Amino acid sequence: MVPPGIARQFGGELEQRLVALRRAIHANPELSFRETETAGRLDVALEGFGVADRRRVADTAIVARVPGRRSGGPVVAVRGDIDALPIQEATKLAFASTVPGVMHACGHDVHATWAVGAAALLAASPADGDVLIVLQPAEETGKGALAVIESGALDGVVAIFGGHVDRRFEVGQVVADEGPLAASADTFEIEIVGSGAHAARPHESRDPIVAAAAVIAAIQTIVSRRLNPATPGVVTIGTIHAGSAPNVIPERAVLSGTVRAVEPVSRALMLAEVERVAKSVASGYGVEARVTLDMGTPPIVNPTGATAWARKAAESVVGMENVVPLGFLNLAGEDFAHYMERIPGCFLRIGAREPGGPVIPAHAATFYPAEESLFVGAAVLAECARVASAALASGG
Ligand SMILES: [Zn+2]
Ligand SMILES: [Zn+2]
Repeated sequence: MVPPGIARQFGGELEQRLVALRRAIHANPELSFRETETAGRLDVALEGFGVADRRRVADTAIVARVPGRRSGGPVVAVRGDIDALPIQEATKLAFASTVPGVMHACGHDVHATWAVGAAALLAASPADGDVLIVLQPAEETGKGALAVIESGALDGVVAIFGGHVDRRFEVGQVVADEGPLAASADTFEIEIVGSGAHAARPHESRDPIVAAAAVIAAIQTIVSRRLNPATPGVVTIGTIHAGSAPNVIPERAVLSGTVRAVEPVSRALMLAEVERVAKSVASGYGVEARVTLDMGTPPIVNPTGATAWARKAAESVVGMENVVPLGFLNLAGEDFAHYMERIPGCFLRIGAREPGGPVIPAHAATFYPAEESLFVGAAVLAECARVASAALASGG
């Protein structure tokens, strides 16, 4: 059932076609960068809605162009991610996954359908300029957005919008907050290299284990002493490996961990401090620390301008009283951040809990977004494109 306020937009067969599309994608989930069948299904759906200009990029991504009311207008984008997770589904839905061990546990089946639904709505009621519909693979591995960007398919796009289903909010509620919305997720490895010896003759060694212990303790001061207490951050050492016998001092110790931040400045500070602290503490112990940083997704910080457009769009679709604050800080990562490093935009949370239903976290085997959220997300994202396009066309 389409929520009453937006039912008018989904007349004819549109409602049934979107429901069928979403259920088919849900029943046939595919892992990151293996979304061949899913992409094919989405391509057919777009064609069925009269979207003729469709490109395959980055193997399993589709970038489709819905023409605006005039050519040469600002080009804005709507993104939906399409990949599933390696989880055995336990929802008991009639259209549950038919693939053992693979499941749409993050709602990307709904996100993909939002983007196609937005395309259908924009084809019927276009924005000022063209709108690119970006069906993006591999969000869960944090690699898909970069692959789409590197394909060049988004060159010239001046604003981008996307969203995530969220069962902490009821269907019909939308979060369009300015400021930090998702955390960065980077990893690091510290290899501490000393020299080995007999455990009874430590003076003949440069012990990497004692140095590793000191490095671990010193790294705890990054959040407590270096990070501005007004902004959250996490540094966790998740692995430590060294040694092979109780009577041997090994030559090396290897630590690895993760850094989370919600602001680019604190992200850069913490990563630089991990490296500086590890190297200087190791040097004090007469060993060498080799630090490798693996940059993951950046944080998402919704900027003022694009967020104002998204709020206006959300208010016109669900009503001002249903545009609600997030109310807590989200430290999960989301690869939409890669677009937002290059293109202004806004990332929304779209309520997906049926009234009275339980809050179920994404990535749980029992997670499902309420089907009605299909229509809210499609309508809000289409309207984001229209509002941004109109504002940009008039120089605002
Ligand atoms: Zn996820
Ligand atoms: Zn997700």
